[in-house]
Amino acid sequence: MQNQLTTYLSAGYPGLAVVSSEEARAEAEIASVCTSLKRRLHAWSSTEGLVDTKEGRVTNCSDPLELFQLLEGMFNAKEPRHVVLLRDLQLHLDQTDPPLIRRMKDILRLAKVGGHAIILLGCRLKLPPELEHEITTVDFSLPDANQLRTVLDGILKSAKIKSLDEAVREGAIQSALGLTTMEAENAFALSVVETGGIDHKVIAREKARTLKRNGLVEVVEATTCLDDIGGLGLLKDWLVRRSGAFSASAKAYGLPAPKGLLIVGIPGTGKSLTAKATASAFGLPLLRLDMGRVFGGIVGQSEANLRAVIQTAEAISPCVLWIDEIEKGFSGSSSSGSTDGGTSSRVFGSFLSWMQEKNKPVFVVATANDVSKLPPEFLRKGRFDEMFFVDLPDAQERAQIWDIVIARHGRKPTEFDTVVLAQMCELYTGAEIEAVFVDALHEAYADGREPKPSDILEATEHMIPLAQLMDGQIAALRHWAKGRARLAASRGKQGRRNTRRIDSN
Ligand code: ATP
Repeated sequence: MQNQLTTYLSAGYPGLAVVSSEEARAEAEIASVCTSLKRRLHAWSSTEGLVDTKEGRVTNCSDPLELFQLLEGMFNAKEPRHVVLLRDLQLHLDQTDPPLIRRMKDILRLAKVGGHAIILLGCRLKLPPELEHEITTVDFSLPDANQLRTVLDGILKSAKIKSLDEAVREGAIQSALGLTTMEAENAFALSVVETGGIDHKVIAREKARTLKRNGLVEVVEATTCLDDIGGLGLLKDWLVRRSGAFSASAKAYGLPAPKGLLIVGIPGTGKSLTAKATASAFGLPLLRLDMGRVFGGIVGQSEANLRAVIQTAEAISPCVLWIDEIEKGFSGSSSSGSTDGGTSSRVFGSFLSWMQEKNKPVFVVATANDVSKLPPEFLRKGRFDEMFFVDLPDAQERAQIWDIVIARHGRKPTEFDTVVLAQMCELYTGAEIEAVFVDALHEAYADGREPKPSDILEATEHMIPLAQLMDGQIAALRHWAKGRARLAASRGKQGRRNTRRIDSN
């Protein structure tokens, strides 16, 4: 944040906002920037009033209107140049109080003329439209490894732990990346209480819980590997060939970190499975983002939510960020001006810029079933390294899926003729093959025996494959993918490194 803040203050931006729940760390960084720019820092809260941080002088004023009156007096003079930090002022602005908003605009104008600035600080930022264009948000990253090392040292000192193995220390720091200082401190302390020392597993578990509670991204344990996917040979091969691209030697070689992958296809064909297996293949942590939640919750929070997601993913990087059914999040962006005041378009624009410009190694795996809902800008080159289309599995792939599904349910694939089973399941997706086998298992269990091919045959009689119900949509999807997306499976005719794109329905 310090560089960005320095630039904005030097350029004379009068209104800034820092969105963070880490008040103490944000304030320390703001103070350090003010010192280096020789600005006089004041801090206000409704409980403490206005504090001149240089002289320690406190002026009582709990009411924002009173505060603005004081600021007017200060900002009328050009020297010294003041920076006023306003804690939680946005909560007052939330109430859309017309005189307060007017006063704030006057103050910003005065600050601009005199080279002063105000900085709003709080864990959320919802401004009335009158102020939205007057305030610039400054990014405040989560603590990096060095900052977390200081937090860990503090905990070790208070727990009277004198020495810690370097590998254990680094494991703890890596596990804590993505947490705020307070959350990391809690996780380290919990590890001491639970284990009497520092255990990265406890910290990783706490991080997973904390992120889940925060509700936007979730840490997913990557237990799936590429061998758990039947078919999709070209896609798996593409992933294998990029699996070393996040290593130090790849960086030294001058290889840019891959940006990400868009996997489009028929529901139940293994897209989510591939997203999970990507993390295992790359040996990176996996984060799952629920786009619906970015747009849910308090109105006006979507932009802050997206920023929080990016901050978390970048703090944890290198990592894989899986965005499931991405079209659900961004589908309204083109018509958003008329429906949600432009929020979706703005969030969508921020996401695209991040995808284009990100320099932290966050590999995005986005999956989509319905491309007609995706805005065209999304599919332009440069956002993703590649787009793959996953079609229905052919007979050979279905046989592979049968092998995997049977083994996944603790049976020996050699006890079944999976080639025949594959023939029985024409037009089935992987998910439908699994559903049929689970149905057969239930029937066999109820009769107190192991499943037989006849159970599977019977189960197929109750199954109408999605491909029959959605043949129109599937044809449209294939048509869309033609010339745009790379085929995920070789269909038996293609070589290992085939780059064929779909050329027929
Ligand atoms: P959706 O678009 O509905 O989310 P999806 O394409 O992401 O579907 P998955 O969630 O990956 O499909 O698949 C559902 C389940 O079906 C998987 O957990 C797995 O058990 C099985 N499955 C699907 N495709 C395959 C495959 N190619 N190989 C092995 N199992 C598969």
